[in-house]
Amino acid sequence: AALKAAAAKSKEAAEAGAPTVFDKIIAKQIPSTVVFEDDKVLAFRDISPQAPVHIIIIPKERDGLTQLSKAEERHTEILGHLMVTAAVVAKQEGLVDGFRLVVNDGPQGSQSVYHLHLHLIGGRQMNWPPG
Ligand code: 5GP
Repeated sequence: AALKAAAAKSKEAAEAGAPTVFDKIIAKQIPSTVVFEDDKVLAFRDISPQAPVHIIIIPKERDGLTQLSKAEERHTEILGHLMVTAAVVAKQEGLVDGFRLVVNDGPQGSQSVYHLHLHLIGGRQMNWPPG
């Protein structure tokens, strides 16, 4: 319940334009292990990995994309670029037998950081349905 309340609070703050922990990672104010970076996106290892490979891929500019359900026509290019980046990073990480790409959206999707991100997860057998 405490985690849910914290997530609700950070959702409201991000929607009002406040920086999230990912802005601090982009600004290198908090350290992370970056595995890929270009002018538009950043990919870094998740601090709490759920598999041997667990990488977070984010747009450097949030541009209103606190979560996927806020996506609009203008986000088409960056969303495509994030997906292509996932494929590039998966190859770089040696995930030749497959991987999983996840976007958690909102409270019911278990989203905790309100800056759109892809989870690239791999290095072990995934199960379906997810939890
Ligand atoms: P969400 O639950 O919002 O889909 O995913 C947020 C992810 O960000 C979580 O998997 C969490 O472990 C990761 N995360 C949160 N804070 C940090 C941090 O400071 N550094 C890194 N590397 N990952 C973080």
